[in-house]
Amino acid sequence: MPSAAPLYRNHVLVLSQSFFIKDNRSELLLHAHKYDFDILFFDEVSRFVEAVARDDGDNLYLIDLDALHNMQADMGDGRRTLMLGELLQRLPADHSYIYLQSARQGGRFLLQQRLVDSNCLAYAEKPIANDVLVDKLFNLFVQKKRGDLVRVAVLGEVAGLDAAALLQRRVELIQHADPYTLHVRVKELQPDLVLVTDSEYARTDAIVRVLKRNIEADPVRETALLQRRPDPALARRALADGFDAVLDMADPALLEAQLLNRANKIRINKDLIGKDRATGLLNKVGLRKKAQDLIRQAAQEGRPLAYGVIDIDKFKTINDTWGHSFGDIVIKRLSLTLAAKLGEHDLLSRFGGEEFVLVFWDCSLDEGRRKLDLLRQAFCAIPFEVGPAEIRQFSFSGGVAAYPHQRSENELFLRADAMLYEAKQGGRNRICAQA
Ligand code: GH3
Ligand code: MG
Ligand code: MG
Repeated sequence: MPSAAPLYRNHVLVLSQSFFIKDNRSELLLHAHKYDFDILFFDEVSRFVEAVARDDGDNLYLIDLDALHNMQADMGDGRRTLMLGELLQRLPADHSYIYLQSARQGGRFLLQQRLVDSNCLAYAEKPIANDVLVDKLFNLFVQKKRGDLVRVAVLGEVAGLDAAALLQRRVELIQHADPYTLHVRVKELQPDLVLVTDSEYARTDAIVRVLKRNIEADPVRETALLQRRPDPALARRALADGFDAVLDMADPALLEAQLLNRANKIRINKDLIGKDRATGLLNKVGLRKKAQDLIRQAAQEGRPLAYGVIDIDKFKTINDTWGHSFGDIVIKRLSLTLAAKLGEHDLLSRFGGEEFVLVFWDCSLDEGRRKLDLLRQAFCAIPFEVGPAEIRQFSFSGGVAAYPHQRSENELFLRADAMLYEAKQGGRNRICAQA
């Protein structure tokens, strides 16, 4: 396989001597690869500790506590089992760990307390199915990474909020003064969270209904009332009116902490709904939303967009000849090839199995076709090692459409897909575009 870019962005370093993991190694790996990470296994404490100490901290570190039963040799002292305290002490303190334990250990509160106080990111109980473990590890990766920007629209004056500090934590405050135009601003900016102060709510109590009853309103968006002082009657009325939550704004630091927590949850939900786990790219749902935003922005600024759909050629044959997991590697390699050449405002989505959509910002139909063709050549050049000293190259076909020739996301997709069909009909390994 080409060594240009690593196939998986993240790693889980696992310290384990248990048969639970040894027997399941390849199955565990297969699941992990579907979730865009790789697993490195260690069966000696010292090797594990060295690797963790060398690591930059983007990865996860999993310790199977059953490993303790087999750790004597590693201590250079054959007669004694490694104690939990000794193990915990040897772990580099600037990282945090996931502890995997037996149900019997899990039932002991004092042990749990000791673990959670020892640089614990999470703990898990065995037996745990491989796919479940991998799914949970994936969620930890999502929580760990610096997430997408979360937008918060604020109607009314909130004294003391530190907008710059929030922005540093990837939360953008958008101040709005006029209750009668908030719904227009929300439609335009698509914030994840809308905050309305109690005095604005007192002026126009229809505000939340107007925001929420719009059939196009994002159903996941949260709307919260900000209260200067506790007022249970007002809070009850606000909830009945459609507010999702009531937050205290008397203390700006407390409100900031609440906003950061909510932003984290929003990010996790958006990732789960809008992204493909195997590649980390937008899925169909995520693309639709982002593409609509981009089209709106292109309309405002009078810029063109190029919209490309690509599909790997004869992928069924690839699967049938070299196996489904080899097929997965080809998909993964393609996603990395496409992502590497993307501009800051461009979009890339894994739309379906071996089908991808790209949206190029400020790009004409012709330029879009050229860009896609360069990507096609780059992918074609990748030497895949299908067997010992046996190299194969694969290809994809693509179709391109452009805004404003096609005006909506749906029209763009249909047009580009029709062009893709032409490319397939015309012999594959080519890009078709036509104004
Ligand atoms: P064509 O050149 O006409 O596109 O031929 P094709 O064989 O690629 O045909 P098609 O695009 O219809 O085939 C898609 C195949 O991709 C069918 C499906 O089994 C397989 N597939 C879909 N998702 C995945 C995946 O995540 N991994 C793997 N390995 N295969 C997948
Ligand atoms: Mg296909
Ligand atoms: Mg195909």
